Amino acid sequence: MNQYKKIRETDKVLSAYIQEESHRQKYGLEMIPSENYVSDAVLEAMGSILTNKYSEGYPGKRYYGGNEFIDKIELLTKERAEKLFKTVHANVQPYSGSPANLAVYLATCQPGDTVMGLDLTHGGHLTHGWKVSATGIFFNTVMYHVTREGRVDFNEVKELVKKFKPKLIWTGATAYVYQYEFDKFAEIADSCGAYFAADIAHTAGLVIGGAHLDPSPFAHIITTTTHKTLRGPRGGMIMVTKKGVKKDPDLPQKVDKAVFPGLQGGPHDHTTAAIALALKEAEKASFKVYAKLIVKNSQALARQLIKNGLKLVGNGTENHMVLMDLIPVFGPGGGFFAQYALDRVGITLNKNTIPGEPMSPFYPSGVRLGTPALTTRGLKEKDLIRVADWIGLVLNEVTGSKLPGDKDERKDYLENYRRKVDRSANLGKIKKEINHFAGKFPIFAWNK
Ligand SMILES: *Cc1c(COP(=O)(O)O)cnc(C)c1O
Repeated sequence: MNQYKKIRETDKVLSAYIQEESHRQKYGLEMIPSENYVSDAVLEAMGSILTNKYSEGYPGKRYYGGNEFIDKIELLTKERAEKLFKTVHANVQPYSGSPANLAVYLATCQPGDTVMGLDLTHGGHLTHGWKVSATGIFFNTVMYHVTREGRVDFNEVKELVKKFKPKLIWTGATAYVYQYEFDKFAEIADSCGAYFAADIAHTAGLVIGGAHLDPSPFAHIITTTTHKTLRGPRGGMIMVTKKGVKKDPDLPQKVDKAVFPGLQGGPHDHTTAAIALALKEAEKASFKVYAKLIVKNSQALARQLIKNGLKLVGNGTENHMVLMDLIPVFGPGGGFFAQYALDRVGITLNKNTIPGEPMSPFYPSGVRLGTPALTTRGLKEKDLIRVADWIGLVLNEVTGSKLPGDKDERKDYLENYRRKVDRSANLGKIKKEINHFAGKFPIFAWNK
């Protein structure tokens, strides 16, 4: 294999690790809903000479010389983002989704101002004001929640807004199986004059692919990562909509100032170029097909999991992900059991809290899984049905495991559990089947 030849020549140890990870990516089923496989073109841009350049500032206003071509690259990326997301301003410099969100606070709030976001244990993101995040430390945060069915509780949102009059309201989530209702949030935010920021990190690809509601008529600000359903390099973007400029004509400049010099130094120009490529790929008709198939695949997965007797939050999905409530299988706190056993057979997903979580984010009672990466590899609905059957078989193998209530007993119990799973002949057999199945779907075939 000629891939990464120079790495192998330079560093055998590191090279071996990369090869192992490469093998894992090829022979496993990647179901973490925030992951994806980028194209060869995106990989080339990430490995390009653009990483050599410093370009603090913005096109035409840099603090370093030699940015003639970098300016062109950043402007191209910015224009593509503005067009695809139907916005009037895009900042493509944020290092990732979290710094992008922090920049939004810096652009719209003073320290100590009140902001609102979805509670982390109800599917929200750390950066929407969770207590351990800088956003929760420097701002006064009020959290809203979801109902038992896992839908945003709009009655609560309305009441909290009336009571606390937040300066900034976030919508968006990391574990949410419905479409975000941007229109409802906009109405509530407008009622108190708050900035309304739509964080579509998870769903950006679905939005531009026409498989999800569009936030651009409703939000003032849109933030996103570029590496999830958008299928680009790891990065972030902040966009200002027409509505945002109408509310605050200086908003684009405030956002730019917040990113640099507010939070960051030099932008990662190789990443910017890779984002340009991902956006170009996302302009194609084939990307719309991809986005719609992500959702169809996710719904096929959900239906078959239910057929196999498993319980899903919301009884299905409207987007790219499924949230499994594992209380019927393991009792409270059993997300780890599922994650570990499925990892052992080559299905990668993550433990996650469920609405009304009876345990904790560290020992949550559910798992979160999704189809963006598998859809990139070419899996169709019938393939997802097979995957759902394997998941059913694996959970059947380990059902009845139970997280001890006594904290001191947990360590031993989990160790025993791991040993049992590692030694299971049945799981070993399923792993072989899955490796063979996954190996048939080449990682980079879609962009050849
Ligand atoms: C992933 C995610 C982020 C953060 O992105 P990072 O690149 O991991 O910093 C922010 N918000 C939401 C809703 C996300 O899902």
